[in-house]
Amino acid sequence: MIIAERKPLAEIIEMVQNCKKILVLACRGCVTVCSAGGEREAEILASLIRLGLKKAGKKAEVFDASLVRQCDREYIDAIDQFKGKYDAIVSTACGVGVNFIANLRPDDNVFPALNTTFFGGSAEQGEWSEQCAGCGDCVLHLTGGLCPVARCAKSLMNGPCGGSVDGRCEINADVDCVWQMIYDRMGRLERQKEMVQSAPIRDWSTAGHGGPRKLVRQDLTV
Ligand code: SF4
Ligand code: SF4
Repeated sequence: MIIAERKPLAEIIEMVQNCKKILVLACRGCVTVCSAGGEREAEILASLIRLGLKKAGKKAEVFDASLVRQCDREYIDAIDQFKGKYDAIVSTACGVGVNFIANLRPDDNVFPALNTTFFGGSAEQGEWSEQCAGCGDCVLHLTGGLCPVARCAKSLMNGPCGGSVDGRCEINADVDCVWQMIYDRMGRLERQKEMVQSAPIRDWSTAGHGGPRKLVRQDLTV
């Protein structure tokens, strides 16, 4: 899922300081699961904005609502019900949701309430870690299911680098060297011999280095 966290309240208040009618719009997708932008968080944020603006001597009405997802046209169309009613939508979706609203609603102000961070998973309560960088050319079949693009500080395709010490990354000693993990795991799977060959030079064009990417599924288009 996409992992995000709420921006500092002062930053959000600054965005909306001149607005009189504000809608805090939750997304019930990924950001609900990572406790950043679901219905409950939007309700709390609306109260905090209300109080913050009042404290700053500003008069504003702040409401909250939610959409199933903000990254899907099918659900975004539901915000037509809010058309012309608010002078700012504060979205608690990830950056994709904010972009989607901005694309589809050219006349509405939309502000991000979250900092979108990475694609990750939750291993512990309240802790998420990056697992995939959305590179567009997955190599997990070659690396025992562990991602060197997202989890190696240098995104090496042939690792570990010379700096790995005692299974720790040289860039951040608090982090396990994913290439050591890959090597150990491939050993357990009796697949280490697959690692003898160097991975070929990678074409990074699928990873977004050529601008925004698009995926078209002909079988789903109408
Ligand atoms: S190799 Fe690419 S697609 Fe596969 S997990 Fe890593 S970043 Fe994601
Ligand atoms: S120590 Fe390991 S994880 Fe860190 S940069 Fe080198 S290969 Fe990558």
